[in-house]
Parts: sequence; C-alpha cells; structure tokens
Amino acid sequence: MFVITHALAPVVVTNALSALQLTRASTSRLFTNAQLIMIGIAGAAPDLLSPHWKLSARLQSPTHTIWFLLGIYPVCLLVGRWLGQPRPWLIAHCMWLAVLLHLICDALAGGIAWVYPLNQEILGGQYVPLPLWFLSDAGFFAITVFLQRWVSALEMKRDGELLMERHGSKSSLSFSSTPRGMRSS
Ligand SMILES: [Zn+2]
Repeated sequence: MFVITHALAPVVVTNALSALQLTRASTSRLFTNAQLIMIGIAGAAPDLLSPHWKLSARLQSPTHTIWFLLGIYPVCLLVGRWLGQPRPWLIAHCMWLAVLLHLICDALAGGIAWVYPLNQEILGGQYVPLPLWFLSDAGFFAITVFLQRWVSALEMKRDGELLMERHGSKSSLSFSSTPRGMRSS
C-alpha cells in the first residue's frame, strides 16, 4: 500500500475513538491533533525510513520486518512519554500499533520478508490489487477530513453546552444571592 494509507488508517481509527468519546458527553477529545500527527508519522515510518517503489525493494527493507517492529517499541515508549501527555502509554501503544498495521497492510498487499535478512520467507501475498491502493488512499483521505470536521463540530457543541451550564449556574447563583426585598414577586 502507499504511504498515504499507512499514515491515515491509524489516524482514522484513533480520531474515530475521539469522536466516540465526545458523543458520550466527555469533556475532552481522546487525541489532540499533534498526537494524531505523531500516530500518522508512526504509521508511515517503515516507508519513510526505507523509501521504495518496487515490491522487490520492500522485500529487502529492514523496516518491514519483525526486528523493526520489536526495535521501534522502546522508541514509541520514549516518544509517547515525551510528547504524549496526558496519556503517554496510550499514545505510545497507538504509535506502535500504527507500525504493526503498516506491516499487516503490506503483508496483504504483496507480502513482507518478515525475518529478513535471516531468510527471504514471505509473509502474506498479493490479496489487495494495485488499483485498490489508490482507492484506499482516496477513501482514507476523505474519511480523515470528515472525522476531523465532525470532531471539531462535536467540540464546538460541547463548548457551547459548557458555556450554557456555567451561565445558567451563575445566573441562578446571582438570583439566590439577591436580597429578598429586591426580588420581584
Ligand atoms: Zn511499507
């Protein structure tokens, strides 16, 4: 698959969780935009660190192996701890799962030499034809834009409700603190 799908697929999943949380009357979204970008970069990392066009090059790529998946785990923990506040563990594991998702997608779209350079055993096969790769990029781009707008709309709605609540509690407070004689009957 292309790098756009690898970057946006985990962003779509995590942003959908943000939207779900906001629809359940939460006060804040689960992932900030900066954290979504971090997760997207993690999803694209195997291709960014080992750029290639041909399948044969991917099958010799050190970033499309189990070794890379294991090696990137502590890096995700460090980056999550550094930039993933207030949920460092969640962000770190979402980043690592984004890398895992990349390898699974590539395994379904041509395969990966998962234990390279120990041997050339291929995991997966060509289950997703090339035309679908373009469709996948376009689809994930459209869903990303839709989700981003939806989450923003949910946040605006929640902010409006919070403002109304505060305004309501303030006016009831000022009403109750008004001297009795000044209240209209
Ligand atoms: Zn790849």
